[in-house]
Amino acid sequence: MTAKIFKNILITCLATTAVVIGLFLSILYNNFKDDVMARLKSDASYLITGINNEGLSYLDDLNVSDRITYISADGQVLYDSKSDESAMDNHSGRDEIKEALVNGEGVSERYSATLGKVSLYYAKALANGDVIRISTDTSTIAALLLGMSSYIFWIVVIVLFIAVLIANRLAAKIVKPINEVDLSSHNIISPYKELVPLFSKINEQNYTITRQLIKLDQLKEEFKTVTDNMAEGIIVINRDKQVLSYNGAALRLFNASDIKNGDNVYCFDHSLKFMTAVEEAIGGKNSEYRRQSENKVYSVLINPVKIGEHVNGASILIIDITAKEMQEKLRREFSANVSHELKTPLTSISGFAEIMKNGIVDPDDVADIAQNIYDEAKRLIVLIDDIIRLSSLESSEIETQKENIDLKELVGEVFTYLKAAAAKKKISLICNGEGTVKGVRYILEEVMQNLVDNAIKYGSENGHVCVVISDHDDQVIIKVTDDGIGIAEDDTSRIFERFYRVDKSHSKAIGGTGLGLSIVKHGVEYHGGHTEVISKPGVGTTFTVYLPKRA
Ligand code: ADP
Repeated sequence: MTAKIFKNILITCLATTAVVIGLFLSILYNNFKDDVMARLKSDASYLITGINNEGLSYLDDLNVSDRITYISADGQVLYDSKSDESAMDNHSGRDEIKEALVNGEGVSERYSATLGKVSLYYAKALANGDVIRISTDTSTIAALLLGMSSYIFWIVVIVLFIAVLIANRLAAKIVKPINEVDLSSHNIISPYKELVPLFSKINEQNYTITRQLIKLDQLKEEFKTVTDNMAEGIIVINRDKQVLSYNGAALRLFNASDIKNGDNVYCFDHSLKFMTAVEEAIGGKNSEYRRQSENKVYSVLINPVKIGEHVNGASILIIDITAKEMQEKLRREFSANVSHELKTPLTSISGFAEIMKNGIVDPDDVADIAQNIYDEAKRLIVLIDDIIRLSSLESSEIETQKENIDLKELVGEVFTYLKAAAAKKKISLICNGEGTVKGVRYILEEVMQNLVDNAIKYGSENGHVCVVISDHDDQVIIKVTDDGIGIAEDDTSRIFERFYRVDKSHSKAIGGTGLGLSIVKHGVEYHGGHTEVISKPGVGTTFTVYLPKRA
């Protein structure tokens, strides 16, 4: 702005100087011309006096630099001091001659074909009607003016110097108050009244910008709070693959650290899969891949961020799908196990039935075979019952109202059902302590029945099965301990899986479906609790159930 003001002031000064010098020169030229004309006029008077006294021969003896021409009243040139008069054309048409013939004297300024220069003419009529004309070319005036050019040059130099000085000072003085204005303020006071509309507009815009910045900060804060609390990782990148924002989960799931906004997104993961997926998203295509790290499985979804058709960047979403994958695996295993477990008793039943149908059974064996069919059918019924219970627990479809349950009483009932099985192995059933929880009676009954049943099944002959109930502030803890075969450490983490049995070869003899502990686990979880196991092979096992009272 300073440079522009400076330039404009300088141009104005120089233009003014040029106009002033132009006017000055033209006035000077006209003054010189008037002087020359006055001289021509006085010279003409002298010439007329001379001609009147001595005739035309007077002119021959003259030695003057001006051109003198004598023209008869009919325009014929009778004498010319610079040219051969006989060769000259008729002059009656010349402006100054015409004027002189009419008014007694005439002047003109025009180009002379005879001299080849612009000339000033003065013509005066004599008493006899002839005209004496005296002329001089304007080069003398031009020479005079040219003589002044060095002064003019110095005047221009001085004016230029002063103009630069003034323009510089003025520009700085005009701009200074504008530069001192705090443009970020909401209340700018204009230093010049001409700028009031501009500064009011800036004030308005500053208000709007401040409001929008506050809103933007709020939105950013909200976004950060939301994304930081997300289990899924989020990364937003621009077209150049620079990180624009990310949440804590993204760092955790990619096992990355020390990443700043602006860093290349490949700092999170330099695997070929990731790079290819990012490239595809930047190219405008949605991409997805599965990422495995340690015991975890992630799904990485990369989508382009488009404005119209133009891809501006990409968003990356990382989801932990370990649990989902595990569930899917368990579901597949469950289906395979169910089919297998159902098929085994059915094959036996159909085998026995076939033998009987073919009539190749000894009548004495019919009862045994019928018993076998009955046992296998019972096994099937138990299995199907367990499957139904488990699936109803898993689907949370239980609508039974919760009630206060006296656990000592419930364990007593379970002992009654299992008394016979315990007596078979001479196992004593003991219950100590007491406690009450709010729960669904039949589910807790199944939980306790499975635990005590297992303790008897896998307990030692002549041993003990001991249930201890302890009532705490916020939970009731039930411990079921036996002194039986125990479980190897590797198996303790798996026994709650559906159909998992430690010793498959003896499972048929012992009985059971392999679903008992799954029912325990889900039944306890349904009540908001959890189950633990501690066991030592050959020593015994303790299952501990934690049941919260608030559930
Ligand atoms: P099952 O119907 O075979 O008993 P469960 O799900 O109840 O199935 O138990 C899974 C496996 O855990 C059993 O096959 C057994 O090997 C082991 N197990 C359960 N309870 C005990 C226990 N009290 N002592 C030793 N092993 C046990």
